[in-house]
Amino acid sequence: MLAVGMLRGKPGVHVFEIPKPEIKQADEVLVRVKEVGVDGTDFNMVKHNLQDIAEGHSGIVMGHEMVGVVEAVGSGVKSLAPGDVVVMTVRRGCGICQPCLHNQSDMCMTGLYTERGIHKQDGFLTEFVVDEEQYIVKVPPRLTKLAVFAEPLSIAEKGIEQIRIIQSRLPWTCPHPEHTFASKDWGHCKTALVVGAGPLGLLATALLRLAEVHTYVSDILPEDSPKVHLVKHMGANYIDARNKTPEEMVQLCCSPTGNLDIIFEAAGAAATAVELIPYMSRSSIYVMTGIPREELLIQVDAAQLVRQIVRYNQVVVGSVNSNRSHFEMALRDIGDIDSSFDGMLGEMITHRFRLKDYRQVFTLSDPKHIKTVIEVEPWN
Ligand SMILES: [Zn+2]
Ligand SMILES: [Zn+2]
Repeated sequence: MLAVGMLRGKPGVHVFEIPKPEIKQADEVLVRVKEVGVDGTDFNMVKHNLQDIAEGHSGIVMGHEMVGVVEAVGSGVKSLAPGDVVVMTVRRGCGICQPCLHNQSDMCMTGLYTERGIHKQDGFLTEFVVDEEQYIVKVPPRLTKLAVFAEPLSIAEKGIEQIRIIQSRLPWTCPHPEHTFASKDWGHCKTALVVGAGPLGLLATALLRLAEVHTYVSDILPEDSPKVHLVKHMGANYIDARNKTPEEMVQLCCSPTGNLDIIFEAAGAAATAVELIPYMSRSSIYVMTGIPREELLIQVDAAQLVRQIVRYNQVVVGSVNSNRSHFEMALRDIGDIDSSFDGMLGEMITHRFRLKDYRQVFTLSDPKHIKTVIEVEPWN
């Protein structure tokens, strides 16, 4: 069967033949791939020739945002049956550390994990894949056409889960006890700045807006960009960061009480990410999810930074990857996002390609581009 990915020693993206996988263990599931979403990780792999191929293998199949249909199940599989629409998680644990042994490989302690389509394991840009039941999450039938967002949304879900877990250290930040971070109504009276209006920033904004957080989104885009349109469509405010200092940006989005409760960094722009720290509010949290590539030296007043983080009880936390529980959260929220913001997720998919047109995916240059989906086998 056909697969698209990278080949050792050969820059660029290629199509090649691999054997169709087979169920070999009782807990395995064979899935027919339908759609695969493409994100910045995939574009960077190709652009910068980042080959992370397992030893002894000649290549790696790309693609880590998938939706497919169960074709066959092993004799021990309980939760899935042929015909079920499913999504697969990305990371496979190290098998050694406690988080990995307890379904939290996103928090792996050894770094010996693998990731399908990214790090030493074949991904989903092919016709069939096999994996264990524990890594496969069933999609409710009404969400079939939106399920390709489960993986990127799971990353936003984890970031926001981190915020809520860590900020439960405060009873509440407004005069209303029901608005504690632990409550269902947690977002009321809170203000957030999302840095970056790419797919992850937009999905984080969607979750924050669903929770009624007063949200600002910054990027270096003109007001007429389709991404800015989506920001406004969700009831968030756009800040054009091109001619503003980090201080001016934060001043723009502070609430009337002067607090910025949350910063969610989703751009991977290292200088901005660090330069925002001195403008964090008291007892606030700053989640970083972007991963800068290049080395970058900047000057900071270290004493001021440490003094402020200590005196203001601030938290700067990184959040990477996601586990099965975040995929389940994502599948709970996808329908709400699309109905609350009127077809927003469909609007985010600006480009669709068939698998055979894989080269166009990585050479595309379109200022209106937000998200590409590759159709391996189109839905009927
Ligand atoms: Zn581990
Ligand atoms: Zn309140």
